[in-house]
Amino acid sequence: MEPKKIIIIGSGIAGMAAAIRLAVNGHRVTVFEKNDTYGGKIASFEKEGYFFDSGPSVFTEPENIEALFQLAGENYTDYLRYEKLPVTCKYFFENNKSFIAYSDPERFYPELQQLSGEDLLRVKQYLANAEKLYNHAGAIFLNKSLHKRSTWFNKDILSVLKVTRLSYILKTLSSYNQQKLKSPEVQQIFNRYATYNGSSPFKAPGMLSLIPHLEFNRGVFYPLGGMQKIADAVFALAQKTGVHFEFNAPAQRIIHSEGKARGIVAHHQNHFADAVVSNADIYVTYKHLLGNEVKSQKVLKAERSSSALIFYWGILKPFPQLDVHNILFSKDYYSEFKHLFRFKNISNDPTVYINVTSKKDPAHAPAGKENWFVMINAPSNTGQNWEQIIGNTKKNILQKISGILGEDIEPLIESETIYDPLTIEKNTGSFMGSLYGSSSNSKIAAFLRHPNFSRYAKGLYCCGGTVHPGGGIPLCLKSAKITTELIEADFRKRKNH
Ligand SMILES: Cc1cc2nc3c(=O)[nH]c(=O)nc-3n(C[C@H](O)[C@H](O)[C@H](O)COP(=O)(O)OP(=O)(O)OC[C@H]3O[C@@H](n4cnc5c(N)ncnc54)[C@H](O)[C@@H]3O)c2cc1C
Repeated sequence: MEPKKIIIIGSGIAGMAAAIRLAVNGHRVTVFEKNDTYGGKIASFEKEGYFFDSGPSVFTEPENIEALFQLAGENYTDYLRYEKLPVTCKYFFENNKSFIAYSDPERFYPELQQLSGEDLLRVKQYLANAEKLYNHAGAIFLNKSLHKRSTWFNKDILSVLKVTRLSYILKTLSSYNQQKLKSPEVQQIFNRYATYNGSSPFKAPGMLSLIPHLEFNRGVFYPLGGMQKIADAVFALAQKTGVHFEFNAPAQRIIHSEGKARGIVAHHQNHFADAVVSNADIYVTYKHLLGNEVKSQKVLKAERSSSALIFYWGILKPFPQLDVHNILFSKDYYSEFKHLFRFKNISNDPTVYINVTSKKDPAHAPAGKENWFVMINAPSNTGQNWEQIIGNTKKNILQKISGILGEDIEPLIESETIYDPLTIEKNTGSFMGSLYGSSSNSKIAAFLRHPNFSRYAKGLYCCGGTVHPGGGIPLCLKSAKITTELIEADFRKRKNH
C-alpha cells in the first residue's frame, strides 16, 4: 500500500506505540506533543538526591512491550531490562496482620493460609476462573474493537459465552468476592483490583475479577532503572522506526470538514494528514480539539475514574519491613470508597500505597536512605479545597504509617514533593486529573468507553487510557494495536473503492 501521512496527538505510551506500529507498516508518522518530552503519565523527576517515577509503578504483562520490538525487528533486551519481582506486594491490615504476596505459589499459598485461614482451594479456583476469563473474554474484548460487527460475529465469541457467568455481570466485584472468598482480609485484597482502573469494588462489576490473574498468575515486573525506562525504550524504538516527534507542539485544533478529519493546527499552522490519531484525553479531544460541546458532554456520561494524591518523600533511613510495593489497608473499605465516589473527598483512614524503588535500584536514593512514593486514591477534581484535603490526609497517613511501622515517620522526611489531581491534570492533560479516563463503576461501563475511532469525524482515531479498552500500561498498548488495525483496515477499504 502507498505510504500515508499520519499525525498523532500526544506521546503517551499508547501514542508512541501506535506511531511505531504505523511506521513499521511504512507510513510517515509525526507525533505532536504539548510537553517538552515524551511519555505522558509515565514521567519522573529527581530532587535532593532522590529519583522518583511520578506516575505508574506497577508493571504487568510485559509481552505487550516485547511485541512492539518484535514487530520492528529489534531485540527488546537492547532497550529495556526487567525482572519478575519475588514479592508482588506486601499487605498490612489495621488489625496488625500482614501478608507477603510471594510470586512463587509454593510460598504464596501457605502464607495466605497463615494470614486468614482462607480455604486455599477457593483461592485457587478464583485465580483459575480469572485466568479463564482473561484468556477467553479478555482475548476478544481487550484486543478488539467493541464497536465493530466483526468482533461480535467472530467464532471465538462462543468461547467467551462459555466462560462468562452472570455473576461477572450482575454482581459487583465486592459481592462476587464475598461469594467466592471467606476471609475479610482476602476479600479486601481482591477488592483492591477495582482501583487498577480507578473504580470502586462496591460499584464495578465482578468481571474485574480477571485483573488479579495478571499479578498472581503471571507476576509483577520491575524495569531496571524504574518505570521511566519503559517510556525511554519505547521512544528510542519509535525514533529507530523513523517516527518524527515535535515537542512543545500542542495540537490547537483538529481540522475537519464534511465529517472528515483532515489534519491539525499546531504553532498556528495547518498540518494535513491522511489520518489523525488522538492520544489526548477523549473529553479534551472533543471539547477543545474538535470544539464539539455536545459530544464532550456525552463522554462525561460515564463517571470519571479516581485520581490520586501522591507524596514523594525522601526518607532518611531504610525500612526493612517494606518491600517494593506495599499496601496499608484502611479499616473500612466501604466507607473509603463512599468518600471517594459519593462525597468526592478522602476519608480519614485511606488505604496507603508505598512504592520504594530504591529497594531494587539503590541509586534512586542517597546511601542508607529510601525514596518513598506514597499514593492515596483521591476523587477526580470537582473544585475541592485541595490544600485542606492535603493537610488532613498528610496528618492521617503519617499517623497510620507510623503506627504500622512502629516509628514516627515525620521527622524522617528530608525531601517532599506533592502531586494532587490539579497537578496531574496540568502535567498530563488528563481531564479532572483522572488516572484512567472513565471509571468502571457500572455494569455497562466497558461499553460506555469511547471507541478507537470517531463517528463524528472520519479519519480520526483515538488511543490511550481514556478510550477502549481502558487505562493502565497494558491496556493502553492494546488500545494502540486495535487503533492501528482499524486504520489499516480503513486504508484498505478506501483503496478498494
Ligand atoms: C499517579 C499514577 C499512577 C498510575 N499507576 C499505574 C500503574 O501502577 N500501572 C499502570 O499500568 N498504569 C498506571 N497508571 C496509568 C497509566 O500511567 C496510564 O494509563 C498510561 O500511562 C496512559 O497512557 P496514554 O497513552 O493514555 O497517554 P497519557 O500518558 O495520558 O499521555 C497523553 C499525552 O498527550 C499529550 N497531549 C494532551 N493534549 C495534547 C495536545 N492538545 N497536543 C499535543 N499533545 C497533547 C500529553 O501531554 C501527554 O503526553 C497510573 C497513572 C498515574 C497518573
